[in-house]
Amino acid sequence: MSGEQQERERRAAQNQLLFRAVNEQIVEMTENFRSDLSDINLVCECWAPSCTGTISCRIEDYERLDRSGNMFLVLPGHEDLLVEDVVEASNGYVVVRKRDLAARIVQEAQAL
Ligand SMILES: [Zn+2]
Repeated sequence: MSGEQQERERRAAQNQLLFRAVNEQIVEMTENFRSDLSDINLVCECWAPSCTGTISCRIEDYERLDRSGNMFLVLPGHEDLLVEDVVEASNGYVVVRKRDLAARIVQEAQAL
C-alpha cells in the first residue's frame, strides 16, 4: 500500500471517529425524551470531511450497532469500498465496517 493511500485511510478513520462521537452525543441528549421519539437525526459518518448529510435512524437500530466492531453509519453512496465493507443496507442508510489499516486505527483510538 502506498504512503499516500495510508495517509488517506488514516485521515478518513479519524474523521469518522469524530462524526461518531458527535452522534453518540446526539443519542445521549435525546435520552430524556426518548419515549416521544422514534427517529433521531444523525450525521453521516463517512470519510468526507465536507459531508454534511444527515441520516434519520431509529434509536433502537442505532443502539443495536456493534460499535466495538468498528462499524459506522453512512448515507447510501457514501461508503468507500476500498477501505470498508458493507455490513447492512436498510432504509436510508448503510452500515459499513472498516478493514485493514483503517480498522486498526479505529481500534487503537477506542483503546485510548
Ligand atoms: Zn457522508
